[in-house]
Amino acid sequence: MKPTLPLVTIVVPCYNEQEVLKDTITQLSSVLDDLRKEELISASSKILFVDDGSKDRTWSLIAMESTINSYVTGLKLSCNVGHQKALLAGLEKAKSKSDCVISIDADLQDDISVIRSFILKYHEGDEIVYGVRDSRETDTFFKRNTALCFYRLMQKLNINLIYNHADYRLMSKRAIEELSRYKEADLFLRGIVPLIGFKSSKVTYSRKERLAGETKYPLKKMVSFAFNGLTSFSVFPIRAFTLLGCLLFLISVMTGSYAFIQKLLGNTSTGWTSLIISIWLLGAIQLISIGVVGEYIGKIFIEVKKRPPYAVDIDLYTERLGMSTFAEESLLTKEEFN
Ligand code: UDP
Ligand code: MG
Repeated sequence: MKPTLPLVTIVVPCYNEQEVLKDTITQLSSVLDDLRKEELISASSKILFVDDGSKDRTWSLIAMESTINSYVTGLKLSCNVGHQKALLAGLEKAKSKSDCVISIDADLQDDISVIRSFILKYHEGDEIVYGVRDSRETDTFFKRNTALCFYRLMQKLNINLIYNHADYRLMSKRAIEELSRYKEADLFLRGIVPLIGFKSSKVTYSRKERLAGETKYPLKKMVSFAFNGLTSFSVFPIRAFTLLGCLLFLISVMTGSYAFIQKLLGNTSTGWTSLIISIWLLGAIQLISIGVVGEYIGKIFIEVKKRPPYAVDIDLYTERLGMSTFAEESLLTKEEFN
C-alpha cells in the first residue's frame, strides 16, 4: 500500500498586501502543483491567507480567489493584531487539518523554491525546518547591521535564536500542538519555536526584494519587536541595573571615605560641581532602572489578563462552503479581480 501523502498548509499573514497578492497566489499555487505531481504532498494541500485587519482590498482578493482556486483559503481577523499573532492564528487554524504547516510572508521575499527542500526534510522525519538566509544583501545597511547586533546580543545572553532565521519555516502538526501550549501574550515566535525541541534542521536560501508594495515593519515596529524579544526571554536588563547599583555602591563607599578623611583633615571645599553631577547622574540611573522594572511589571500585567491573542471573523478554512454574507458581499467580480 502506498504511504499517505502529507497534507501541507502554507500559512501567509497579510496586512494591506493587495499589490502582491495575485502574484503570491500564482507562485505558491504552482509550487503546490509541482509538489503534487512529484507525489510529495497530498492533493488537498492548501494555502491559508490570514488577513490581519487589512484596510485595502486584501480580503476581497482572498475571498474571490478562494472560489476559483482550490488551494486558496482564508481567515479574516477582526482587526490588526500584528504579524506574530496573525501567524499564530493561521498556525492554530491550519493544524486541525494539516500534517505540516509552512509559514511565509506575503511579499515572497523568502525563496519559495526551497519549500521542496522543507518537504523533503519533513519526509526524512524532521518536525521543524528553519529557512535561514545566507545573506542580507537586499536589506538596507541599517537593517542589516542592527539585526546582526541583535542576534549577537541574544547569543551572548544564551537565548537560543537561529541566526538569520525569521518566520519562514515548516512545522509538523505535533510541533504546532506544543507551540499552542505556550500561553504567553507577548509572542516572539522565533524565540519560542527552538524551545519546542523536536528534531529539526535548516535550509539556506537568499532573500530577495519585496515583490511590490512597501514594508509593513517600519523602524518603530522593528525596535519594539526586538525589545519584546529581549525582555520576553531574558531578565538581563534588570540584572544589569542591579549590578550597576552594586558597583555604584562600592564607588560611593570609596568616595564617602575619601570625603570623610578630607573633612577630618580640614580640606573640605564647597563641592558644588560634584554634587550637581552626582544628583543628575544618580537621577538618570534611577529613572532608567525604574523604567526597566516598569517594563517587566507591564509584562506581568499583560500576561495575567490572559486575553485571547486574536479573534477570527470569517473562517473559510473550516467551512469552505458556508461563507458568511460579508465574505460574499466583499467578493469582487472576476473582471475586477483581473
Ligand atoms: N504583517 C501582518 N500584520 C502586520 C504587519 C505585517 O500580518 O501588522 C505581514 C505582512 O503582510 C507580511 C509579513 O507580515 O506578509 C512581513 O511583513 P513585511 O514583509 O512588510 O516585513 P519586512 O520583510 O519588511 O520585515
Ligand atoms: Mg517582507
